[in-house]
Amino acid sequence: MIHNLVEQHVVTAYDQLKGHFPGFCGCEVCRSDVLVYALNRLPARYVASVEGKVVTELNLDKDQTRVTIEIHVMEGFRKVTLSPRCGRAARPPK
Ligand SMILES: [Zn+2]
Repeated sequence: MIHNLVEQHVVTAYDQLKGHFPGFCGCEVCRSDVLVYALNRLPARYVASVEGKVVTELNLDKDQTRVTIEIHVMEGFRKVTLSPRCGRAARPPK
């Protein structure tokens, strides 16, 4: 199995930051759009797991890496909140 370590961190950041965007829809379409937006702007870090055990020699928990991931995820939240593709009307300001 091949894993993209960045993907795991993007999903974690998504869950942690979702509460900061009250106008965000949160359906499966919008969730995927935020994750894809961030992942397309971050270099992938692939690792191979051996017999179900993920090899995590890459340290993605460095502050700089985490901050970079969070910046792209937050940008994705803003874009999707403004124009969700699922058809749900964006919440009017105020
Ligand atoms: Zn939606």
